[in-house]
Amino acid sequence: MRFISTRGQTEPHSFSDAVAAGLAPDGGLFLPESLPDLGGELDHFATLDYAGLCFEFLSRFATDIPAGTLRALVDRSYSAFSHPEAAVLRRLSSRVLVLELFHGPTLAFKDFGLQLLGNIYENQRRVRGGSINVLGATSGDTGAAAIHGLLGKPGTGIFILYPEGRVSPLQERQMACTGADNVFALSIDGTFDDAQAVLKEVLGDRTFQARHKLSAVNSINLSRLLAQCVYYLYAWLRLGPEDRAGAEFVVPTGNFGNVLAGWMLSRMGVPIRGFKVATNQNDILHRFFTTGEYRVGPVRPSFAPSMDIQAASNFERFLYYALGGDGARVRAALGEFKASGTWRFADFGNASGAGFTSSGSTDPEISGIIARVYREFGYIVDPHTACGFKDLDPGRTSVVLATASPAKFPETIRAAIGLEPTHPSLEALKGLPIVKYRIPASASAVREFVSQRAV
Ligand SMILES: *Cc1c(COP(=O)(O)O)cnc(C)c1O
Repeated sequence: MRFISTRGQTEPHSFSDAVAAGLAPDGGLFLPESLPDLGGELDHFATLDYAGLCFEFLSRFATDIPAGTLRALVDRSYSAFSHPEAAVLRRLSSRVLVLELFHGPTLAFKDFGLQLLGNIYENQRRVRGGSINVLGATSGDTGAAAIHGLLGKPGTGIFILYPEGRVSPLQERQMACTGADNVFALSIDGTFDDAQAVLKEVLGDRTFQARHKLSAVNSINLSRLLAQCVYYLYAWLRLGPEDRAGAEFVVPTGNFGNVLAGWMLSRMGVPIRGFKVATNQNDILHRFFTTGEYRVGPVRPSFAPSMDIQAASNFERFLYYALGGDGARVRAALGEFKASGTWRFADFGNASGAGFTSSGSTDPEISGIIARVYREFGYIVDPHTACGFKDLDPGRTSVVLATASPAKFPETIRAAIGLEPTHPSLEALKGLPIVKYRIPASASAVREFVSQRAV
């Protein structure tokens, strides 16, 4: 299997090369050249455990990694989860189920992609030699998950920028209390956007990038997308026939990476009926799926900070399919959006047939939902997952993806229901020293820091 770019101006890449590159050289995102049809294998797949299913699925794509190696990478990635099933499907009522994706090391769904990516990087380093320095910017969950995907891996340095005072105290501890000497939590004076701008500038310096073998960790890596397809498949296989027929997966969404993975799986012969894109008050995607207009607005901080995004980077992959796999049309649409802040989808009628519904939740609604879900089901949802519980369709089965443990957001939960959920791994962090590096939000400061500490 080879991988092409959404923008149509990149030679097809192998899986390993596409993962190593992250972004395609033409600025686009990698996608499989063709999607396999898994329809005939679902009965066999239903007999597999999580790691077995993940291996079977990935072996259709990572065809340049020997099977034994791939199996070991998958086993190592999902044995880091605290629940043997990795993704846990729970029924709350006859019509409502949750898919808990927070049993990984950092208690958010990003562990599914980043545990695997960390092990793939380690394997590539072993095969190709040399060292690697990974750089990322985070508003919280991605940085923690990336750090825990790469923790203690030899020949690997990891540098994560985050805005001082704007990630939650526990998220900061997950990044800054690891005790690992290959991890550097860089707190910058500025916003998440400032951190991202600095990161872009540092990575754009080709000489510097080559000298320190810098690699970006962000939400668009191909391996993350493919790893995320697996839990939809695993959950769908565990639904009974009645639930399967009408089930909709409801996905708390920011960068569109998670929900896109499920939607792609539905194009591989797995008959999933629909997806609901659940945003917070930063509702560009909700507006798009109701009107066909993709119009950027200001980012407004919310109770669900990992979804405080206006230009969803993985949306480009959806565009590629919606625009008939035509890289030129993708470039034109993105160009128009960049120039004017708006893009209108002329064929929206067809896209609404793509199986998406949507919702948006304000902060007061998030608090209200946390209280209601607790009252109705005795179940505590985190503020991101809460967005998924907005206006569930009573006439069909909903599988709501629980993207983070409520224990990561104790303040919001306490305000809503008067209880503070805890988790042993977070409690353990509270006694550890914070090791972080305060630096100015400038590319030169980051370059200087990285050149002193890079492996
Ligand atoms: C990252 C994140 C999301 C949003 O996922 P996308 O792939 O960006 O749509 C939702 N919830 C939590 C807890 C997250 O960390």
